[in-house]
Amino acid sequence: MINIAIDGPAGAGKSTAAKLAAKELGFIYIDTGALYRSIGVAALRKGYDTTDAEKVNSLLPEISLSLKFVDGEQRVILNGEDVSREIRLPEASMAASNVSAIPEVRAFLLDMQKKLARENNCLMDGRDIGTVILPDAELKIFLTASAEIRADRRYKELIEKGTPKDYGELLSEIKQRDYNDSHRAVAPLKPAEDAYMLDSSDMTLEEVVAKIVSLAKEAEK
Ligand code: C5P
Repeated sequence: MINIAIDGPAGAGKSTAAKLAAKELGFIYIDTGALYRSIGVAALRKGYDTTDAEKVNSLLPEISLSLKFVDGEQRVILNGEDVSREIRLPEASMAASNVSAIPEVRAFLLDMQKKLARENNCLMDGRDIGTVILPDAELKIFLTASAEIRADRRYKELIEKGTPKDYGELLSEIKQRDYNDSHRAVAPLKPAEDAYMLDSSDMTLEEVVAKIVSLAKEAEK
């Protein structure tokens, strides 16, 4: 199996680029953020404070999560219910960031991610894929872009979706998530030592995809 790890901060364009690159390579694309988002959503539904580890952990024994792939699109199933839409709501982002700092939550999701990689040629996107989940991945990419560019991309994306949000608010949210993700004690966001650093600030989506595909083809040799 060939495993490609793509890590990087929120909004760097990982999911869009990785999805397209996976399609071109004939690999499955696994978005691990969706798993943390689902646990965040489960906690929000209970009305729990998502930073309250005890509360969030008490939910884990009742949570059954799985991924389904429909026409190459990943769907997340939480206790039998497809929550793929709900996990994209803005409140799910911060909830995911909060629950992802809880060691028990990370441990809960660890085996599932490793198993998916063992069984599939995949491109897995997250924060700790190259460092913790797939330290032996054939290729590791750390995709970044400046916080301003990432906020601007999100801003335009939301306008397109018809759910606009204030740019300044988006920027401070992105900075807050960056801070949370890179300062947590367990599996903080950081590039693996052998990761290829790809800064997408001045690149188009097509250029990023082409770069990932060419790095992957090189790694497959
Ligand atoms: O990638 P996405 O923005 O959907 O991830 C949501 C949150 O889940 C991130 O802000 C991060 O805190 C967490 N996450 C993580 N490890 C991963 C993927 C996501 O901690 N592998």
